[in-house]
Amino acid sequence: VHAAADVPLAPLTTLRLGGAAERLVEATTEEEVVASVEGDALVLGGGSNMVIADAGVPGTVVLIRTRGVERDGAILTVAAGEPWDELVAMTIAEGLAGIECLSGIPGLTGATPIQNVGAYGQDVAETVVGIRALDRSTGAVEDLPAAALGFAYRTSALKGSARRVVLSVTFALRESGMSGPIRYAELARTLGVSVGAAAPIAEVREAVLALRRGKGMVIDPGDPDSVSAGSFFTNPILEHAAFAALVARAGETPPHWPEPDGRVKASAAWLIEHAGFHKGLDRGPVGISAKHTLALVNRGGATTADLIALAREVAAGVHDRFGVALTPEPVFVGASW
Ligand SMILES: Cc1cc2nc3c(=O)[nH]c(=O)nc-3n(C[C@H](O)[C@H](O)[C@H](O)COP(=O)(O)OP(=O)(O)OC[C@H]3O[C@@H](n4cnc5c(N)ncnc54)[C@H](O)[C@@H]3O)c2cc1C
Repeated sequence: VHAAADVPLAPLTTLRLGGAAERLVEATTEEEVVASVEGDALVLGGGSNMVIADAGVPGTVVLIRTRGVERDGAILTVAAGEPWDELVAMTIAEGLAGIECLSGIPGLTGATPIQNVGAYGQDVAETVVGIRALDRSTGAVEDLPAAALGFAYRTSALKGSARRVVLSVTFALRESGMSGPIRYAELARTLGVSVGAAAPIAEVREAVLALRRGKGMVIDPGDPDSVSAGSFFTNPILEHAAFAALVARAGETPPHWPEPDGRVKASAAWLIEHAGFHKGLDRGPVGISAKHTLALVNRGGATTADLIALAREVAAGVHDRFGVALTPEPVFVGASW
């Protein structure tokens, strides 16, 4: 096990923010992960969904760097430390369908069940059949089926709890060069198919990557708009009465999508824009991406406090204008929302 003291965490996050870890352990095998996550050690994957306090992290941070993919037909069991997009690229090269719309999402495979990673009409809840995880409350390593993970829109039973450390994730894919029905209108348009039609998975990957690059949603050292944690706010899910109140306050019907449980998902980007916060908004060292309203960016030299102040300003503006509370998507470490 490779361990060091007082290690700056900012370079290990996509926002390039956060203080130092008192102790950082790099775990390259499952045994090392299990042995090093004692107590309340913070588990760090690709650092693409984290806002770490300027004061840093007291105690231990465990960097998940395990590798390995086991294949049994269309079933893949993937070590938590496998970079997600490399896995997606591999499945496409192997003719396996099911995660192609999730191309270009940063971070590691072990984090994907945590917030049920999703994009362009697909999420991992559709293909995850189970995980192997360490239960820190008992010290036991156990296999958990997807049904035990409480997957929902951009969340799961794992999010917001340090109890379980994901060691590997098992996906059931389809042996096919064709995608499932394309659900996202902008993606269907880019592919030249109608919504609900299938497309070759290799083409879906290229189309998704192109769309994501246009929004600064692919990590690219040459793109200052990608120094973010992706979307900073989730789309708010509203009861019917709350959505009706929003329509009344807006004086028009904002974009929205029906949820399976009868509630309505509103667009966080629309709310933010219509509350007066636009792409490219400049607050010195922080701002809103020039390519995507939902991404808050570190323009260089920012602190976590600067970023959180901007996030609060945006959320308060939306609340004042529309009465809707926005929820941040990233996980806050040592900093409160
Ligand atoms: C440019 C950009 C675009 C993005 N686009 C999307 C998108 O389209 N859709 C989407 O859903 N997300 C998106 N994200 C968010 C992020 O990439 C995902 O949430 C990703 O799954 C986080 O992976 P990570 O390894 O970086 O996790 P980290 O940021 O390292 O960790 C996130 C949380 O998960 C916990 N965690 C990580 N690994 C484990 C593990 N093995 N066991 C237990 N807990 C663990 C951490 O403790 C932390 O609480 C984007 C981020 C960026 C920067």
